[in-house]
Amino acid sequence: MSTVMQAGPLAPLDLPAPTDVTAAQLRGAHCVWCAGELHGDTAVDLEPRHDSINGVPGRWYPRGCRSCILQPVLLLVRTHPGTCEQCTDDATLCETRHALRALALELRR
Ligand SMILES: [Zn+2]
Ligand SMILES: [Zn+2]
Repeated sequence: MSTVMQAGPLAPLDLPAPTDVTAAQLRGAHCVWCAGELHGDTAVDLEPRHDSINGVPGRWYPRGCRSCILQPVLLLVRTHPGTCEQCTDDATLCETRHALRALALELRR
């Protein structure tokens, strides 16, 4: 049996290539954008990514700090509906849109 990985709402975020970041950034200890040290209450999980790392298929666990992730998330909130069939159909039923808006609200606090 294989489990299909469902792409989360943050999957379309543009991240640095895994080959361009440090080991600490690969495991989510440092912000994937600014390389700042992360703590539980300031870190935002960006969902595990599957990428080829130095030619080896691998998984990494990018995380970002709140100040780095706010703008990309706000941008996703704006651009998501144009890329989503569910939103074209009935945006109130789109879980991705709900998740993005909830995250944006949370980050702005
Ligand atoms: Zn950062
Ligand atoms: Zn949608």
